[in-house]
Amino acid sequence: MVTGRTTTIDPGVYVSTQVWSKADLHIHSNHSDGLARIPEIMEFVATRTDLKVIAITDHNTIEGALFAKELEDVFGIEVVVGEEVSSTEGHVIGLFLTEEIPSGLTPAETIRRISDQGGIAIIPHPFSSRGVFGPFGRSGFAAAVSELAFHALEVYNSVPYLGWANRVAAKMFTGGQGIAAVGGSDAHVLHGVGKGYTVFKGTTAADLRASIEALETRAEADRGGLALALRYAFRIPQIRRRQAWNWERCKVRV
Ligand SMILES: [Zn+2]
Ligand SMILES: [Zn+2]
Repeated sequence: MVTGRTTTIDPGVYVSTQVWSKADLHIHSNHSDGLARIPEIMEFVATRTDLKVIAITDHNTIEGALFAKELEDVFGIEVVVGEEVSSTEGHVIGLFLTEEIPSGLTPAETIRRISDQGGIAIIPHPFSSRGVFGPFGRSGFAAAVSELAFHALEVYNSVPYLGWANRVAAKMFTGGQGIAAVGGSDAHVLHGVGKGYTVFKGTTAADLRASIEALETRAEADRGGLALALRYAFRIPQIRRRQAWNWERCKVRV
């Protein structure tokens, strides 16, 4: 039996002060092989999604990301400057960049340069043919995790044809390796934006960064299903033409 002072707080009411938000950390624009222009992406995010933060991660350029950053206040969306760098073994994403990272370096050197400028290094779609662990397969994963000092693994990527690679990534990623789990859409079309995302504690890009560093992020999917797969199927010729148009940026060395 409780004696003494009684509390006026109703013990049945639990008020959480924690706020969790969504960020799409993998978006392409027409500055590489995406079909949407930066203002279109910002408008879509502001009016059609509940994303608080986005990262523009064009192939081998931060030009579009810097443009999006300029438009942050216009659309009320926080932008992280990112780049999907073509390393010799596959793609590596750098977030919170201030300088462009050149393509054609080893994954280790690419990650080192991202870290040197205070960025966050993510291995995207790790088991796809263009992923860093694609050539290594599953067996090389454990060794590569200890050799490559990356911060996060993209365990969900919403490109329709990566279902198998996502399942391998989720299976290999059991946590405890000191690596955060993140998700991204890898959107190359406007309606792909936000179909894969990272849930983080807080609301701002700084919170996102802290959440990745604290290994408390998680990957989630808002699957586009057949409709999104069809959008991609119809637009693949356009994406290919965009790759040809921006060939120097988009070419993949693996
Ligand atoms: Zn990629
Ligand atoms: Zn990508």
